[in-house]
Amino acid sequence: MKIAVQTESPELAPQSSDPLDHLADVLFHRMGSDGVYARTALYEDVVERLTALISRHREPNTEVMRFPPVMSRAQLEKSGYLKSFPNLLGCVCGLHGTEREIHAAVSRFDAGGDWTTSLSPADLVLSPAACYPVYPIAAARGPLPAGGLRFDVAADCFRREPSRHLDRLQSFRMREYVCIGSPDDVSAFRERWMVRAQGIARDLGLTFRVDQASDPFFGRVGQMKAVSQKQQSLKFELLVPLRSQEQPTACMSFNYHRDHFGTTWGIKDVDGEPAHTGCVAFGMDRLAVAMFHTHGTDLRQWPAKVRDALELSAHSAADAHVEGWR
Ligand code: AMP
Ligand code: ZN
Repeated sequence: MKIAVQTESPELAPQSSDPLDHLADVLFHRMGSDGVYARTALYEDVVERLTALISRHREPNTEVMRFPPVMSRAQLEKSGYLKSFPNLLGCVCGLHGTEREIHAAVSRFDAGGDWTTSLSPADLVLSPAACYPVYPIAAARGPLPAGGLRFDVAADCFRREPSRHLDRLQSFRMREYVCIGSPDDVSAFRERWMVRAQGIARDLGLTFRVDQASDPFFGRVGQMKAVSQKQQSLKFELLVPLRSQEQPTACMSFNYHRDHFGTTWGIKDVDGEPAHTGCVAFGMDRLAVAMFHTHGTDLRQWPAKVRDALELSAHSAADAHVEGWR
C-alpha cells in the first residue's frame, strides 16, 4: 500500500524513532531539510477536505482573504514579533549588490567558497502566522462598524523550528478566523469558536482536550510573558495526543490579543476605543497528520461519521483517484 517512496534510500529512511514516523512515507516525500516536505496526493486530498469542512463552518459576514507566504518586514516588526519570537523568524535575503558584486559572490561559490556572505535582507519576511497582514488592512478602512469585522484568512507559514517530528514543521499551512471589534465582540467570538471547534474535532473522530496555553516566547523575559499570558487566559489550545498523552500536539489555538493590534495599527472600535482582536487558528498540516495517525492511512476504513464530515462517502470516485496514487 506504499506510495513510490524508496525507504531503503538513506535520504528517505526515517532518521528517528517516533510514533508518527510510520506515516512519513505515505504522507510525505523528504526534500532534504527537516520539517519541509513534499505532500502526497493522499495527504493533500485530506488537507483539502479539512479546509472545506472548516469553510462550511464560516460565520456569516466573514470576509475571505488569502495571503502569500511572505509579508512586509516593516509590518511584522511593527507588530512586535521581534520582541516575542525573534528566534522563529525567517527573513527573505537577496543579492542586492551591483552586477560586479553579484558576480563576485557567484564566483566565490564556484570556487568552493561561501556566496551567502553577500546576502542582505529584503523588505520581506516569511509569514509566521496567517493573521498578521489583516490588521493593517482593516486599519486602513477607518473606524469599525458596530459588531466589528470578521475575516477568514490563510497562509503558508514559516517558523524556524527544525524538527524530525512530523507534527512540527518549518513550513506549514495555517487557516484562521479573526475578529476585530469591541472587547465583548471578541470574547463572544472566541467563546463561540471554542465550542464550535470542539464540535469539529468530535466530527473528525479525534481524541482531544482544550486547555489553557502560552506561546513559546523567546528568552527569560519571555518566560514571564508566558506566565502572564496564562494568568490572563489569553490562549487556549485544542490538544490531540499524537506522540504521547503527556505532550499532546496543539492542532488549533484560540487567541485573545486584547488591544495589542488595535493600538499598534490605530484601529478604533465603534466607541472610539482601541479595537480588541482575537483569532482561532487551525494548523491544517497538524490536523491532517492527526487524522492519519488516529484513523490510519486507508480512507475507506475511516469511521462512517468521519467520512461523512469530510464528504468522503459522497465522493467514492475521489477515493479511487487517491487509490491510484498509492
Ligand atoms: P500558534 O500561533 O502557535 O497558536 O499556531 C497556530 C496553529 O498552527 C497551532 O495550533 C498548530 O496547529 C499550528 N502550528 C504551529 N506551529 C506549527 C509547526 N511548527 N508545525 C505545524 N503546525 C504548527
Ligand atoms: Zn492569529
